[in-house]
Amino acid sequence: MSTFAWYSHELCHWHDPGPGSGYVPVGPWVEPLRQHAVDPDLRRAEGLVRASGVLDSFDRLTPEPASDAELELVHTARHVARVEAASAAGGGDAGVYAHVNYHSSRAARLAAGACAEAVRGVVSGRHARAYCLVRPPGHHAEPERAMALCLFNNVAVGARVAQTQGLRRVMVLDWDVHHGNGIQKAFHEDPDVLYVSIHQEGLFPPGSGTITETGAGDGEGSTLNVPLPPGSGHDAYLAAFTDVVVPAARAFRPELILVAAGVDASGHDPMGRMLCTSLTFHSLTTGVCDLAAELCGGRCVFVHEGGYSPWYQPMLVLGTASAIAGMPPPEDPFRHSLDHLPGQRLQPHQKRVIDFLRGHHPLMV
Ligand SMILES: [Zn+2]
Repeated sequence: MSTFAWYSHELCHWHDPGPGSGYVPVGPWVEPLRQHAVDPDLRRAEGLVRASGVLDSFDRLTPEPASDAELELVHTARHVARVEAASAAGGGDAGVYAHVNYHSSRAARLAAGACAEAVRGVVSGRHARAYCLVRPPGHHAEPERAMALCLFNNVAVGARVAQTQGLRRVMVLDWDVHHGNGIQKAFHEDPDVLYVSIHQEGLFPPGSGTITETGAGDGEGSTLNVPLPPGSGHDAYLAAFTDVVVPAARAFRPELILVAAGVDASGHDPMGRMLCTSLTFHSLTTGVCDLAAELCGGRCVFVHEGGYSPWYQPMLVLGTASAIAGMPPPEDPFRHSLDHLPGQRLQPHQKRVIDFLRGHHPLMV
């Protein structure tokens, strides 16, 4: 048995958000072309990890669908029923820009179920680390509504499942280029779940994920947003990790680290304006593994979220997977077009965000 678990399921590839162009559904002045979030791209990602040999380092596991009880650790029963009904009808919008097909509710239950199982496996010590290559993504899904491709909040369900397994303090790190409003909302007043998001400032949802949102009530200080300016690259992400995420984690002392490991902050992604490479995701993932070793017995679970470059996403997933398996970064033939860009070095306007948080966030003052 390997130390590392890999969860994926064929039916996760059968969900799709319907006909569209880019990220916009077909409608007035929109001719059908291709939605960014088409799931054959994710199959290519798993194919590359397999072809590279890295997948051989993992136990490959097939998840069970999340139960109603697991989903309702985060979502209302009414929300779950709405997703099921939209899917059973064969299509439609289950929330806000959350289009489904016949297979979507099953795929979404499998995605959340993978997180639940991965967490149980890591908490029990069966595996040291786990990766869930699942769709649909989850971090925009709020307790009461589906949103922006996300039906059930996979990572939030994972955090709550960890608490049913006897853990109390869970840290969720989200490096998807968009802000994980759904995760933040689920734990906004919860002092036992620290939500840290590194995202592109002001991208999506509009107005969400500002630097001054730090939680509320008993949860004051348990939300930490790092809204980096567009154009941020490798060094800005590593500085945010080293100078913000690490000290915040040390102050919070989690018993498990969950990562919403989207790869849409890459320099080739059509949905964001950041510059990360496969080396960035390898470095961040290695950083999380080291932090987990220092703080919580090595327990960490990574869950795929966004990623919309059909040609680059596989290499980014390989970068993440290689680091989880303790292997060196992959040889990446796409990096030459990104590495030399001036924005890869930490810029003063990016550093100001990091310095502000170090001087003002409740976990660091
Ligand atoms: Zn995203």
